[in-house]
Amino acid sequence: MRIGVVGLGYVGLVTAAVLADKGYEVVGVDVDERKVEGLNCGRVPIYEPGLKELLTRSQGRLTFTTDYSRLSDVDVAFIAVSTPTVNGRISLDYVLSASRSLKVLGKDSVIAVKSTVIPGTARKVRELSGREVVSNPEFLKEGSAIRDTTNPDRIVIGGEAQWAMDLVEKVWSFTNSPVIRTTWEEAEMIKYASNSFLAVKISFINEIANLCERLNCDVNVVAKAMGLDPRISPHFLRAGLGYGGSCFPKDTKAFLSFSEDLGEPLRIVGAAIQVNEERPLRAVRMLEEVMGELRDRVVCILGLAFKPNTDDTRESVGLKIASLLKEKGVRVIGYDPMARTESVEQVSTKEECIARAEGVIVATEWEEFKGIEDLLKEKYVVDGRRILDLSKLKRFRAVGYGRMTEGRS
Ligand code: NAD
Repeated sequence: MRIGVVGLGYVGLVTAAVLADKGYEVVGVDVDERKVEGLNCGRVPIYEPGLKELLTRSQGRLTFTTDYSRLSDVDVAFIAVSTPTVNGRISLDYVLSASRSLKVLGKDSVIAVKSTVIPGTARKVRELSGREVVSNPEFLKEGSAIRDTTNPDRIVIGGEAQWAMDLVEKVWSFTNSPVIRTTWEEAEMIKYASNSFLAVKISFINEIANLCERLNCDVNVVAKAMGLDPRISPHFLRAGLGYGGSCFPKDTKAFLSFSEDLGEPLRIVGAAIQVNEERPLRAVRMLEEVMGELRDRVVCILGLAFKPNTDDTRESVGLKIASLLKEKGVRVIGYDPMARTESVEQVSTKEECIARAEGVIVATEWEEFKGIEDLLKEKYVVDGRRILDLSKLKRFRAVGYGRMTEGRS
């Protein structure tokens, strides 16, 4: 089978690399000439564990181009372009533009939409492209994207034409994962409902954390016992500074405005968004509580990627905190093992970052930030991700942890 992948970002590039590794001939198309040129010279534009090795291994079966006509003989073309939220609403511009370009496909080719889109989009893709369309939403997580693509929890295939659904199911037959066949709209809903549910779960435990801080309780103790109930499960029950990244913030907002347009507003999702947007400000307030007036003082942010094991800084909590601190006249420096950004002065080691600062905020739970308590002894610390041994710290505040500490008013 020959496969096309349109959009070579976190989803498209991983999909292309995994499918080529499984033996398919894959053509990857992107409108970004520099990205395509780089990929053809072996430069991988993103950090994702194992991706570079996988791309090297599948050389020969994988080509990159900006030329859509190279897709004319593929059996399945996956759309994996971005679907940003603009002013609270999804922008389908890239998906619709890709759909028009996919008129180059043969009449028996199938388009599979991987991009996260509001219900009703796959139908539009069919109208614009004139080709049969299947909705095949993506559930991979950055940081474990290759494992998630090779071995997904479930494969959702939504569509109308059985032959087209059969073809897309065949592409994924190497996975042995459960396949759920649905309509287009159900498939599109499954993706948004899943992401929104996870966002609600995170915001829920973060509000419980707020309450724990008032009651001198430890939210980790509460969450651990809650999670032992299989109906609740321990996953996504870690209190912290909230969710960021390229998916949850934009998807929850797009889903909310979509629901409002239909006259059935998802009030719980709205509340989850609101709670999440308060998290960075709460981290700053915590630092003020231990450190006092922040103006002209130096604060180090550990973790600028939106989560560990990625270099992705889109909607990163660390960067949001940095900008709030700067507004208060704070001198902010940052450190991240992988992420690079223009918006904060970055130093190359955590040791330097901590040594130069009076205050430290742990914003991302990178493995290398565990066990650094000795470096933090003389600092004012906010453990925003609950990864530190608090018994070894002197002047700190920690999310969902209410005990009085030295320096706390
Ligand atoms: P991304 O921004 O990393 O990559 C998108 C790529 O599409 C870019 O390289 C861009 O140049 C390219 N592109 C834009 N318009 C194009 C066009 N008309 N033709 C060809 N290429 C075009 O995005 P991403 O993070 O990979 O996400 C892609 C989609 O998958 C989004 O809808 C996202 O919501 C969804 N998704 C993302 C993740 C994730 O973890 N990143 C997980 C699940 C689903």
